[in-house]
Amino acid sequence: MHIGVIGAGTAVVGLLDALAALEEKPNRITVFEGSPTLWRGRPYQPDLAAVRVNVPPIRMSMRVGDPMHYQSWQADRDVTAYLDEGLGQPLVPRSVYGEYLEYTAAAAIGRLRDSGCSVRIVRANVIGFSRERHDVLHTDNGDHVPVDRAVLCVGSGRPRDHYGLTGAPGYVNEPYPLADSLSEIPADHHVAVSAAGCAPSMSPSACPRTGTPARSVCCRAAACCPTYNNAPSGWS
Ligand SMILES: Cc1cc2nc3c(=O)[nH]c(=O)nc-3n(C[C@H](O)[C@H](O)[C@H](O)COP(=O)(O)OP(=O)(O)OC[C@H]3O[C@@H](n4cnc5c(N)ncnc54)[C@H](O)[C@@H]3O)c2cc1C
Repeated sequence: MHIGVIGAGTAVVGLLDALAALEEKPNRITVFEGSPTLWRGRPYQPDLAAVRVNVPPIRMSMRVGDPMHYQSWQADRDVTAYLDEGLGQPLVPRSVYGEYLEYTAAAAIGRLRDSGCSVRIVRANVIGFSRERHDVLHTDNGDHVPVDRAVLCVGSGRPRDHYGLTGAPGYVNEPYPLADSLSEIPADHHVAVSAAGCAPSMSPSACPRTGTPARSVCCRAAACCPTYNNAPSGWS
């Protein structure tokens, strides 16, 4: 069986790990990824240390049926600096979690290859699918790859611009990496964060490190705010 996987983000790490654990493994897997980074998806790219995961370790395991898999990996690292006092658990920078994803993917691919499965990574976007004698995936570099099964793992994409603000002076639609977006904000500017999910809990905590403004306001339509487990004291 030849499995074609479209997108090499977080979900695929779990998929490869699960396929590597099967008694009867597929004999070919081709993973297609159009962005420069494998396995980290949008959330877990290198960024400021203040950009933390927002879920306890027990809920971030990549291994089906083993909620301790991520915690075992984390146990070999010094994460004391990231202890969240409210939670009593470390919430590491998202880039550190990205290392766990890379480690887990590499280990799974190693196990698959050792058992005779060919794993190929194609650095291209899939732009089409056709079904004739075979199911065929079409890439933006002109390739046509026949597969027996296609798995769609493309994530949720970039943030939507709900208010059509793209191009407006000072508007940032994609905040990540914060290392880049915050460094472009002058120190005397007043920042508004719209549709506040978990991003604002990180933006102010990143400010002291980048010298960006201490004054910000979060605008949110829903009545409640997300839990700010790691909100530093002294900002509002
Ligand atoms: C900013 C942010 C922070 C988050 N923080 C946490 C957290 O702390 N804890 C937690 O548990 N969850 C968190 N999540 C949720 C969860 O981790 C993500 O939703 C998860 O990464 C989704 O995995 P995915 O594989 O579906 O998508 P992604 O990881 O985004 O991967 C999709 C991949 O598909 C590729 N792709 C897209 N289209 C194509 C195409 N046509 N051809 C080839 N490749 C393609 C993309 O380039 C990308 O690499 C966060 C989500 C976001 C957005």
